[in-house]
Amino acid sequence: MLGMVLHNIGKPLILEELPDPIPEPGQIRIRVEACGVCRTDLHLVDGELPNPKLPVIPGHEIVGRIDALGPDVADLSTGMRVGIPWLGSTCGICAYCASGQENLCDRPIFTGYTRDGGYATRAIADARYAFPLSEESNAAALAPLLCAGLIGWRSLRFTGNAKVLGLYGFGAAAHIVAQAARKQGRHIFAFTRPGDRASQDFALRLGAGWAGGSDEKPPEPLDAAIIYAPLGELVPLALASVRKGGSVVCAGVHMSDIPSFPYRSLWQERKIVSVANLTRQDGNEFLAFAAQNEIETRTKTYPLEQANRALADLRAGRFEGAAVLIPPRT
Ligand SMILES: [Zn+2]
Ligand SMILES: [Zn+2]
Repeated sequence: MLGMVLHNIGKPLILEELPDPIPEPGQIRIRVEACGVCRTDLHLVDGELPNPKLPVIPGHEIVGRIDALGPDVADLSTGMRVGIPWLGSTCGICAYCASGQENLCDRPIFTGYTRDGGYATRAIADARYAFPLSEESNAAALAPLLCAGLIGWRSLRFTGNAKVLGLYGFGAAAHIVAQAARKQGRHIFAFTRPGDRASQDFALRLGAGWAGGSDEKPPEPLDAAIIYAPLGELVPLALASVRKGGSVVCAGVHMSDIPSFPYRSLWQERKIVSVANLTRQDGNEFLAFAAQNEIETRTKTYPLEQANRALADLRAGRFEGAAVLIPPRT
C-alpha cells in the first residue's frame, strides 16, 4: 500500500510504500476511494494535539470499499462501501461509554491520530465504527460528510432550536451545516475573515441571509453561534452577538487561547460549550438526514501524493468547501 506518513511534527508528510495491513479480529481493511482533509489534520501536523501515534498516516474522512475482513466480523462483507470517521473505537466499558457518551470515552482510538488513517490506498478500521454509505454517490463528495458533516451536525444539535444561527468560519463544516440548517428552516448568518468576499459570496449562495466579517455585527441578535475557525478571539465576539439565553458552541478540536472578556458578556444565561468528537448515533442520524435532504458538498480534489499541497491550501484558505485526496487505484 501507499501512504502519506507524518514522521515528525511540523514536517511535510512523506509518500511511502508500506506492507498491506492485516485486519485483526473485529477489524476490516478498506481500499480507500477518497479521504477528506480536515482542519484537525493541520492541528496534528502542527503538534497541537497531544500524544499522536508517530509515525502516523493522517485522515479521518475515509470513503472506501472493504477488501478484507478480520475474524469475527459479522454484518459487513467485502466490496461494501463504508465511511470511516474520526472516532475509530471506544472501550465500551468506561462511565462515558456506559451512559451513551462514547464521544467522551476515556480510552478512545481516533482515526488518523492514534491509529493510521486514510491518506493512503489502504486503511484498517474497527468494523463497529464503519458507516455503510451510498453505492451511487461520488466518493469525493461523500468524504467531507464524515467529519465536517458529522461533527457539524453534532454542533448544530447543540444549538437546540435556535432559529437565527451565526456560523463563524465558513469552511468545510459550515458549508454543510448551512445547508442542513436551512432545510430545518433556520436562518443563517455567516462570519468569515474580514474582507473575504469569496467565502461570503459562497455562504450567500448556500442560503445564508447575511454574510460579513467576524468583526461585524449581524443584522439581528443570534439565538446561537457555532465557531468553526480555531481562533479563541472569536468567542467574545460571538458572545457579544448572541441574545440573552443564547449559546456559543465551539466545534473545533483545538482553538487558540480565548482572550478575557467582561462577565456581563456572559451574564443573562448565555452559554459557552465545546463539542467533542462524535457518537455513532450522530453518524447514523446525520448520514440519513444528508441522504434524504440532498446535502451537497463542494470539494477540491488532489491526488494522494499532493496531500502536503492540500494541507497548505487549507491553511491559506485557497478553496471553498473541502479538500479531498484521491489515492491511485491499486
Ligand atoms: Zn469508553
Ligand atoms: Zn475532522
